[in-house]
Amino acid sequence: MSSTLAVRGGEPVRTRPYPTWPTSDNATAEAVGQVLASGKWGSTHGEVVATFEAEFAEYQQAAHGICVCNGTLALAAALRAVGVGVGDEVIVPPYTFIASAAAVTFVGAIPVFADIEEHSHLLSPAAAEAAITERTKAIMPVHIAGRPCDMDAFVELGQRRGLAIIEDAAQAAGAEWKGRRVGAIGDVGTFSFQTSKNMSAGEGGACVTNSPDIAGRLYAAANVGRVPGGGWYQHDHLGYNLRLTEFQAAILREQLRQHPSLQAVRAANGTLLRSLLGSVEGVALPSEDPSVTAHGWHLFLLRLPSIGGVERKKEFTSALQAEGVPCSPGYDGLHRNPALLEEVEALCKRLGQPVPVAEVPVSERLSEDTIWLPQNVLLGSEDDIRDAAAAIEKVARGI
Ligand SMILES: *Cc1c(COP(=O)(O)O)cnc(C)c1O
Repeated sequence: MSSTLAVRGGEPVRTRPYPTWPTSDNATAEAVGQVLASGKWGSTHGEVVATFEAEFAEYQQAAHGICVCNGTLALAAALRAVGVGVGDEVIVPPYTFIASAAAVTFVGAIPVFADIEEHSHLLSPAAAEAAITERTKAIMPVHIAGRPCDMDAFVELGQRRGLAIIEDAAQAAGAEWKGRRVGAIGDVGTFSFQTSKNMSAGEGGACVTNSPDIAGRLYAAANVGRVPGGGWYQHDHLGYNLRLTEFQAAILREQLRQHPSLQAVRAANGTLLRSLLGSVEGVALPSEDPSVTAHGWHLFLLRLPSIGGVERKKEFTSALQAEGVPCSPGYDGLHRNPALLEEVEALCKRLGQPVPVAEVPVSERLSEDTIWLPQNVLLGSEDDIRDAAAAIEKVARGI
């Protein structure tokens, strides 16, 4: 193998593509065709969304499941359902997709950033506790990459301080903390079925909860304020219309059916890639945690602790892409996002509340040195994974 990086004109480690995502099959085409032929395209008339809701809730070991149109608005609905409103503060990690914090502002509340843990990239329970003020109403642990947060600590903290725990499980379908699937370990959890996610209908989302009260409010939030079994023009609450179509639910039922076997492939490949990268100089991996009894494997995170800043990190991912391996430089800390800062400042000013100050050194450091491979890389063969490891090692040496 040529040691000259492909980005500098050398031979790439790989020219064959990695598996694409999403995938479909005849059963999926048939299920979508059945909805089309039925003429019942919306969940107000068909039964496919309701069926999927029950199946998905059971899969996540939750009593109730409510589908919505995406993961972003699933968060807004969940926030409303636990009573978060204007001027309340919600503690969120900065190392996450923008929706986690943006949704907080959609209900007029203030996202307050607390730092993440160095070994896991996940919200630190201690940092979250330190960020609590008299305005705090909820904490949002985000299961980044599909790795569950320390849910023992967050559930205990929520109970002790009287705060709602909202799990952003957009990346964590099927993931488990100590044998329990994520989503309904806290008060409410949210999922995304956007194209890249491990279960996808192009777009879509869901909330799960064990509380019948929260489930009722989620139903209303997603169905223009209606109550289950109530009249068409009976709006006991005010709500959005967040409904999923029957077409999406038909796809999702098939995605759910395939999820366990695809997860087994991702898990085996994720474990193999970890072992192959374990001894590569310049690469550091997140810790292993026996409490994580199932990883969601949405992203394969790796750190380059001595890479020397964001620009160099981006050079690394460009070089790795040139070797034929899909990868991303990943998130920038949300606490630096100008649109979010501006919105929070404007909200706080109107409310006469202090603008929260984010002190998140671990998040800053990890945003500068963490890259990821997307989940479709983990759907490949053992040889595909060996190529990915070889390419990472080549770039780590040569960059
Ligand atoms: C994808 C994602 C969301 C948003 O979901 P959409 O369906 O894209 O709106 C929220 N949080 C996290 C952590 C995500 O990865």
